[in-house]
Amino acid sequence: MKSAKILEERKGSILMKDDGCCSGGGIHCDTESVSGAVSQRACVYCGARVVLNPITDAFHIVHGPIGCASYTWDIRGSLSSGSELYRNSFSTDLQEKDIVFGGAEKLTRAIDEVMETYAPKLIFVYATCIVGVIGDDVEAVCRAAEAKYHNRVIPVKAPGFAGHKAVGYRLACNALMELITPHKDIAKTKGINILGDFNLAGEMWILKNYLKQLGIPVVSTITGDSSYETLIKAPSAQLNIVQCAGSMMYLAKRMEEEMGIPFMKVSFFGIDDTTSSLVRVAQALNDEECIKKAKIFTDVNSMRMRSFLEKYKPNFENKKAAIYVGGGFKAISLIRQFNEMGIETVVVGTQTGKKDEYEVIESLVNPNTVILDDANPAELETFMKEKGADILVGGVKERPLAYKLGIAFCDHNHERKHALAGYEGVENFTREINLTMNSPVWSLI
Ligand code: SF4
Repeated sequence: MKSAKILEERKGSILMKDDGCCSGGGIHCDTESVSGAVSQRACVYCGARVVLNPITDAFHIVHGPIGCASYTWDIRGSLSSGSELYRNSFSTDLQEKDIVFGGAEKLTRAIDEVMETYAPKLIFVYATCIVGVIGDDVEAVCRAAEAKYHNRVIPVKAPGFAGHKAVGYRLACNALMELITPHKDIAKTKGINILGDFNLAGEMWILKNYLKQLGIPVVSTITGDSSYETLIKAPSAQLNIVQCAGSMMYLAKRMEEEMGIPFMKVSFFGIDDTTSSLVRVAQALNDEECIKKAKIFTDVNSMRMRSFLEKYKPNFENKKAAIYVGGGFKAISLIRQFNEMGIETVVVGTQTGKKDEYEVIESLVNPNTVILDDANPAELETFMKEKGADILVGGVKERPLAYKLGIAFCDHNHERKHALAGYEGVENFTREINLTMNSPVWSLI
């Protein structure tokens, strides 16, 4: 392993899979980023915002300097089947004077203005770095606004410096619990909640359509294409299924403990994961009719997708992929999906993966694969070049890096334009990987 660009403090967060066996000691992960290492992770506030932003009729007021709001304005391409209010972003635009004398009054005025103009049922107020320093009583302002307007105004105290993105996920989950807990005693109904899909390119609609065909109603989607009215029904569901485990496991656990709703992890990326997830959901509901339908539906579709894949496999011969995504569960799905396509994963990393997820990753990849936690651009560059990756699958921050290196790129995050979940997702992903990886442009660089 070349180490010229690797900081000494980062070495424990990078491992190369040994010949034929797992390393045993494991990777150093799930900790703060190393100072000065230029982590690709987002801040606490951004972590909270990406989880809550897809709620289509919520308002997001960013109490802080304008930079925090502009950094996250319309941050996700999450799609809506209803309201478009969430596409707006509001900021109290704190200035030096506010920082010296306090910004609480400005926040009150901002909430008043939003209520007078739009009267939303739900407002999230994010307190960012500087508010964490000056100590405005954001909770008191939100409480007063709720009393005045009889709507929900939920504070999300998320100073960016208080950890990293995963801390923001937890704060978002707490905000969601604050929203739904007053409704926890509503009567149970047949159906499930989908947690951790953000409907970035219409994936939630694909999943809902599948579940409808199996006879499984969806009570609430958290948070892709959700609304205030659908979210408050979440406590009535029989089961929570969790797609993005990194952001939503905490919510699932709290809902299980406090509302008695069991949960299961699922993945709808790739043929095998989609098939097994649909069958497992039907089995978890213990409904013979659903199980029968799930088996028929998945048999038909997986057979169809396997013959589709066969046509593309010659184009993928000897191709190598690098993966750098947010959570460990998505990385696991992507390795499996590349295996189905006949593409070897040679570099794989995540921003917020957990120890047990890295163990699964290690068990899935070939010897000499590089595994990284909380990587920076220099490390990604070093290992993608060293391993001869033909494509990088990542998010918005990784795109320029891949292009500068003359490597193909596929966005599997905020900016994707084609749905990547379910069997439709297999088709879209395969086509996109084929087109970008085999583009003649790479031979001209
Ligand atoms: S919360 Fe802090 S780290 Fe995050 S965008 Fe605002 S100033 Fe930057």
